[in-house]
Amino acid sequence: MKTKIEKNQKTILRRCSVCDKKITIIINRDRTYKNGHYFGEIKIPAGKGKEKEVEYWECPECYKDQKLKKTS
Ligand SMILES: [Zn+2]
Repeated sequence: MKTKIEKNQKTILRRCSVCDKKITIIINRDRTYKNGHYFGEIKIPAGKGKEKEVEYWECPECYKDQKLKKTS
């Protein structure tokens, strides 16, 4: 699927936290976004008992899958 980028949009590259696929998030001027789902920051282990905060993103496919799992 090809995504068309408009003049007033910008894109950021993120990785899906579920399937590790690269996703291109499209951000509109009004700060809405599409092509991905952002769930805020999560803490993940960073070795030696430390944690680091990363942005948790899901690609549209994983988001859809999880929604299906929740309802079934
Ligand atoms: Zn995914």
